[in-house]
Amino acid sequence: MKIAFIGLGNMGNPMATNLLKAGCQVTVFDLNQDAAKALEPLGAQVASSLEDAVKGADTVLTMLPAGEHVRAVYLGDHHGGIGLLRMVDKGTFLIDSSTIDPDSARLVAAEAQKQALEFVDAPVSGGVAGAKAGTLTFIVGGTDSGFHQAEKVLKHVGKNIFHAGQAGDGQMAKICNNLMLGILMSGTCEALSLGIDNGLDPKVLSDIMLQSSGRNWALELYNPCPDIMENAPASNNYQPGFMAKLMLKDLGLGIEAATQSQSPIPMGTLARNLYAFHNADGNELRDFSSLFEFYRKPNK
Ligand code: NAD
Repeated sequence: MKIAFIGLGNMGNPMATNLLKAGCQVTVFDLNQDAAKALEPLGAQVASSLEDAVKGADTVLTMLPAGEHVRAVYLGDHHGGIGLLRMVDKGTFLIDSSTIDPDSARLVAAEAQKQALEFVDAPVSGGVAGAKAGTLTFIVGGTDSGFHQAEKVLKHVGKNIFHAGQAGDGQMAKICNNLMLGILMSGTCEALSLGIDNGLDPKVLSDIMLQSSGRNWALELYNPCPDIMENAPASNNYQPGFMAKLMLKDLGLGIEAATQSQSPIPMGTLARNLYAFHNADGNELRDFSSLFEFYRKPNK
């Protein structure tokens, strides 16, 4: 399998690593050359341009920050550059695993179809730990044939691969998931902070809630209070992980979707505002669990 992997950041790096370990031939490209070169010792070919990366590939996998980056890479930027839809060989299969707005995913899918290319949106859940362990959940939007083709590649990097529906539906399901994650992380920070203020040991409180009805993903795998969970970003000065700016983006995508469907999302809107305040305080590039410090601030 000859794969071109575009976007080797916090998630792309471990995903590309697992593809290499599975024996795939992987060519990597990132605007940040150091991010791409980090994969060279593991056997990746480092391309110096997007075009060099995708030529000859039978599959392209992209893992980029947001919709604007995905549109620029697939369709070309606003300055007249051409996108990869016009660079790839005939028959190349295209997978975007970034978390972006469903409309951008549908636009890229429609433009790909015009070039007789198959494109699926396949955003992921499971974080950097899931990416390293190869246990990510993929949420695919696209045709049945696109889904089956995607499974053959994504099984090397993930454990659960779902077909959410047509183009853009993978993104929509992912947005619903991250709306819930933003709310759960905020609630977990809030409950732990309340406990600390009332004399509880946060480790003991975490153990209690893990066996009680407050149990959730953040508490189980990503405790936001420092020194409770050795491998969580909280115990590593909130080094990402999942940057707070990306959580703010995802909650914004939830609000955009809710505006279109006229759905009430008061909890998601509140979580988005908490992240907006937190990020404005200089926390954009820190892990999203650093929201815990927002709650602890009045006590410092
Ligand atoms: P990141 O910022 O660490 O990595 C993105 C990479 O894309 C960077 O290395 C950047 O240089 C590169 N890039 C940007 N524009 C480019 C272009 N035009 N051409 C080539 N490379 C380009 O972000 P991440 O944490 O790896 O997240 C990537 C996506 O996955 C985001 O949409 C995010 O919301 C989603 N996601 C992240 C996590 C997580 O835990 N980090 C979990 C699930 C989903």
